[in-house]
Order: sequence, then C-alpha cells, then structure tokens
Amino acid sequence: MKYVSTRGDAPVLGFNDVLLAGLARDGGLYVPESWPQLSIETIQGFAKMPYADVAFEVMWPFVREDLDEVSFREMLKQAYDSFDHHAVAPLVQLDHNDWLVELFHGPTLAFKDVAMQILSRLMDNALAKENRRATIVGATSGDTGGAAIEAFRGRDAIDIFILHPHGRVSDVQRKQMTTPTESNVFNIAIEGTFDDCQALVKGLFNDLDFRDEIKLAGVNSINWARILAQVVYYFTASAALGVTMDRKMAFSVPTGNFGDIFAGFVAHKMGLPIERLVIATNVNDILARTLHEGTYQPQGVVATASPSMDIQVSSNFERLLFELSGRDAGRVKQLMADFADKGSFSLSATELEPMRAFFSAYKIDEQATEQTIRNLYKSNGYVADPHSAVGIGAAIRLRVDRKIADDVPLLTLATAHPAKFPDAVKKAIGQDPGIPEKIRHQQDMEERFVVLANDLGKLSDYVRTHSRAV
Ligand SMILES: *Cc1c(COP(=O)(O)O)cnc(C)c1O
Repeated sequence: MKYVSTRGDAPVLGFNDVLLAGLARDGGLYVPESWPQLSIETIQGFAKMPYADVAFEVMWPFVREDLDEVSFREMLKQAYDSFDHHAVAPLVQLDHNDWLVELFHGPTLAFKDVAMQILSRLMDNALAKENRRATIVGATSGDTGGAAIEAFRGRDAIDIFILHPHGRVSDVQRKQMTTPTESNVFNIAIEGTFDDCQALVKGLFNDLDFRDEIKLAGVNSINWARILAQVVYYFTASAALGVTMDRKMAFSVPTGNFGDIFAGFVAHKMGLPIERLVIATNVNDILARTLHEGTYQPQGVVATASPSMDIQVSSNFERLLFELSGRDAGRVKQLMADFADKGSFSLSATELEPMRAFFSAYKIDEQATEQTIRNLYKSNGYVADPHSAVGIGAAIRLRVDRKIADDVPLLTLATAHPAKFPDAVKKAIGQDPGIPEKIRHQQDMEERFVVLANDLGKLSDYVRTHSRAV
C-alpha cells in the first residue's frame, strides 16, 4: 500500500515512512491510495477471533509491504496483552438495542491506549530497521499525552516531548504524564489552549529544516497509524452484534479531532455495513456546525467537563474533505488556503450532501452531559465519564429524532474511564468514582514538567536542547 497526501504535493510514501513522517511535507495528511475490501463473511468471522487476530486481519493490507507477518502479529499480541480485559474493547448493553463499546481498559484508562500501544511498537521496529533515532513532539488535550508517554517511556531510539495546555487538563491526566521518571520523557505545559499546542506542533512540522534536524515524528491523530489501529474495534463490535448486509450498525462517537470517527468512516469504506455515524460534540461544536451550516469556522475554545474534546481545529476533518471532494487534492489545498487566509471555508452542495447522508451531528452541552451521566446511573447503575456521556447523549437524540430505524443497533464509543474525571462524575451522581488500583500510585509521586509561553521559538529551542536525536 502506498500513501498520498491530502494536498497532493508531498512524496508518495510506504507505511513505515508515513508512520515516521506524521504530517506530510506539504502540510497535508497521509491517506492510503485505495481502500482494501473485506467481505461480509470475513467480517462475520471476526466474532470468533481474539482482538489481536482481528487487528491483524484489518491492518495487514495497509502494512504488508513494510512488515513481516510474524513480527507484526507479535507486536499486536504485546500491545493488546497490556489491556486488562480479554476482549480489549468489550460491549456493555444499555437498552434493548443500544450498546457501549468500552475502549478504556488499557494501561492509562483512555481509548488512546488502543492506538498508542501498537504505534510505539511499530515506530520502534521501523527505527531499528533503519538504525536511527527520532524525536516525538505531540500535543495533548489530556489523554493522548498520558497514553503516548506510557507507550514510549524508556524506548531507546525515541525521545518524547508532550505539550499540554497549562492548567486545562485534569489532575489524574496530568499526573499520568508528569510522574514517569524515564529520561526520554519531557512534559511541557504551554500557556494557552489545546489548539495553541496543536498549532505549535504543526509549526515544528512545517519548519522543514528543524524537522529534519531533530528527526521529528508525530503521535497525534494526524499520524495515519493511529487511525488505522482505531478501525479495528468498529469491526470487532459489529461482528459481535451479528452484523449482516441487512443488519447494519450505527455508531455514536465523542469527537474532537475527528480521528476516532474517521476510523469508523474507514471501516465503512473497507466494507463494514454501517448505516450512520454520529458526530457527538460538547459545546466546542465546530464539526456539528459544519455539518448543519456547511461552513467550517472555529470559534473560541470553551473549557468543558470533557476536555479531550475541547478542540476547534479538527485536524482529521481534512481526511474526510479529501474523500468528500472525490479525492481532489487541489480542492483540499484550496479549502485549506481559504482557511489560512480567512479563518474559515465553505463546503459545496456536492460535498455536503454525502456527508449529511452518512453522518449526523449533535452538540451536547454541559448541562445535558451531566444529566446524561445522572440518568444512566439511575437507570442502569452505570457510571459514564463525561466524554462517553456526550456520545450517549447524542445517541439518545438520534433515536428521538428517528434518524435510524429502531432495529438498527446503536453503539456508543466509551472513550475514558470515569475515574479520570472524578469532579464531573461526582457533580453528576454525588459519588466519587474512586481511583483504580493501576493508577493510584501516581497520585503521590513527584511531577516533572516545564511551563513555556505559547511561542514557537522558545519551544524549538527547548526541544533542540533536550533531544538526543540532534
Ligand atoms: C481524544 C479523545 C476523544 C476524541 O477523539 P478524536 O479522535 O480526537 O475525535 C474523545 N474522548 C476521549 C476521552 C479522548 O481522549
């Protein structure tokens, strides 16, 4: 499989190069040249297989030229053995035809672990092959950072720098990032928002000399390998619920950077019978507004109880744009240039129509999020975190609006463990969710991070000084 940039001006690359490149050199995102197809019989067969084996079948067509089968299977086995639930992404039934897919059984209790655990192994493998080092710089709105540091700490060939918005992540999230003691881990608190952090990282990637000097690699969901790893649970969950061509699934996905939901779109492109995908946002609703109004225009970021979705510039939306435009890189380039010039762009009717036919979007505000946590606790005794609650709230709205037939199974992705957001949970149900054993030790450990201004020069100086790849 070869990969092309959504903006058409970057070299066509194989999987390992895309893995290490992150952002394409023309500022675009890498996407596969074509979508491999899985037959419905193959998909149904996934119901009987362990998660790591399904992951192999789904991912192999995208990586086969760059990996050998035995070592890829071993990487997947190790990655998913780090989860403390055998199913990796188990289902929980909420109502007669409504389900949760719990994605938070990994080492940092965040769905980001699903991708990060395999990403770190893939990168290590690719670097070892070329006998070189890399520097990872990533931005986090909370969960990516912890999951990335957990996956990359202590790896020989990689230094990892994680930027988080100062004072805007939860205590549990911050401690997950700042307590590891390995010398290849660097935490930077930026005086700004997540969007500022993400813009800084993009700024580093767009400085091509710096990028080459420090062998910059990315772990944000601009990295194709992350999206790819997230395609897998759409298949396992659908297979478990008996998907057929006449029994299609719908998914509600709590969305920030459009990575997780784009993975669902990819699953659909590969042949998974999906009836509808629901974009579930908190009040940072750029994606819902884009769907309803046709114009992509960020507003100021508002801090919410679901901080991992406090995002207004939704990077992976560019990958969807590429598809909606009929894979027209010129069109994507033009829209992104509009965005850089005017701070917004508008979709054409031919782009909006297919988007509206396949996606729905709901904004779940803070009050509705809290109410959803409370109602679900009362009705089912289930404690949801605020991100998952945004997804559940959107799923309920979809049913009320009758956007899908009653007999279509509706699966909401549960993206974080409630213990990571104790304040919001306590406010909703009057009880503290408690800190699970596997992260409790971090609570009293010493924290290590530096605070930097929102300034690209200061950041690149810091990274250059500390990276061992220079
Ligand atoms: C990252 C994250 C999301 C959003 O995922 P995207 O791929 O950015 O849309 C949702 N919930 C949690 C808990 C997250 O960490």
